[in-house]
Amino acid sequence: MTVILKSKPVVESLTKTLKDSAAQATAALGRKPGLTVILVGEDPASAIYVRNKQKRADELGINSQTLRLPDAASQEDVLQAVAKLNADDTVDGIIVQLPLPKQIDADAIINTIADAKDVDGFTLRTTGRLWTLPKNSPEQVGPCTPLGIMALLDFYNIDVAGKHAVIVGRSNIVGKPMAAMLLNKGATVTIAHSQTENLPALLRSADIIVAATGRRNLITKDAVKPGAIVIDVGMNRYVDDAGKKHLVGDVDYANVAPIAGAITPVPGGVGPMTVNMLIKQTIKAALRKAK
Ligand code: NDP
Repeated sequence: MTVILKSKPVVESLTKTLKDSAAQATAALGRKPGLTVILVGEDPASAIYVRNKQKRADELGINSQTLRLPDAASQEDVLQAVAKLNADDTVDGIIVQLPLPKQIDADAIINTIADAKDVDGFTLRTTGRLWTLPKNSPEQVGPCTPLGIMALLDFYNIDVAGKHAVIVGRSNIVGKPMAAMLLNKGATVTIAHSQTENLPALLRSADIIVAATGRRNLITKDAVKPGAIVIDVGMNRYVDDAGKKHLVGDVDYANVAPIAGAITPVPGGVGPMTVNMLIKQTIKAALRKAK
C-alpha cells in the first residue's frame, strides 16, 4: 500500500508546537516574535504568497509586517530597508520576497540580511553553515522548502540513512540545499538537472526521488523503482482543453502513486510545509534572542 505523504497531519501537529513556542518567546521577550517581509513592486503572485505567509504567522502568534517599496525602488532603497530591519530590535526575521524588479541585484540584497534574522535561509553564510554542519547534526539550517521536506519525512518516520536519493533540480532554493540536508542524514545523494544524460535510468536506481524542476509529468512510472519514496516539489499550473485550471507537480501522479512506497500529493504535500518552516525559523530566532 502506498503511503500518501499529506502535509495536513504534519501541519496540524506543528500548529500546536509552534503556537506553544511562539507563546514562550512572547513571554521571554515581552513582545511577539516579529517577521517582516520586504515586498518590492506589484507582482500579483508575490502579493498572494506574502498574504499567505502573514495569515499563517497571525494564526500562530507572530507579529508579521510587510514593508512595501515601489516597483521603481533602487538597489540603495532596498539595501536601506534591510539595514533598517537589521537594526530593529522588534524584528526577528527578515524575508525579501522574490522575484525582485530587474534593476535590483537580489543576491546582493539578500546577503546583507543579518545572520540571526535570515529565516528564509538564503544568504551565503547560511548556505556555508548548511554545507559544513557535522554529519547527523540535528540543527535545522537552510531554505524552508527542503527543511519542510525533511520535517515531512521525519513525521512519517522515513529514515533516509543509507538510501540512494536522486534530486532532480539544482537550484539554490530547493535542489542544492535538499542535497546537503539528505547527505547530512546519511543518504547517498545524486543531483540531476537538465544536462543529465539518461535520467530515467538514474531515477530507477533511486530509493528516494525529489523532483524539483517545474516540468509537468517529467517523472513517469517507467523511471520509478517500485517502492521508492517520491517527493514532488514541482508546482505547475495549466488550463486543460475544457478551460479547467489545474495545479500539478513534476510527477505523473496517477501512474506513479500505485507503484511508489510513499508519495507526496500536489497540492497538499510539500507546498504547505514551506510557510510553516518559515514561522518555525522566526520563532527560533526570537527564542535565540531571548536567551
Ligand atoms: P528552478 O527553475 O530554479 O530550477 C529548476 C531545475 O530543474 C534546474 O536545476 C533545471 O536544470 C532542472 N530541470 C529543468 N528541466 C529539466 C529536465 N527536463 N530534466 C532534468 N532537470 C530539469 O526552479 P526551483 O528550484 O525554484 O523550483 C522547482 C519547482 O519547485 C517549481 O515548480 C517551483 O514552483 C516549485 N517550488 C515549490 C515550492 C514549494 O513550496 N512547494 C518552493 C519552491 C519551488 P538546469 O539547472 O540544468 O537548468
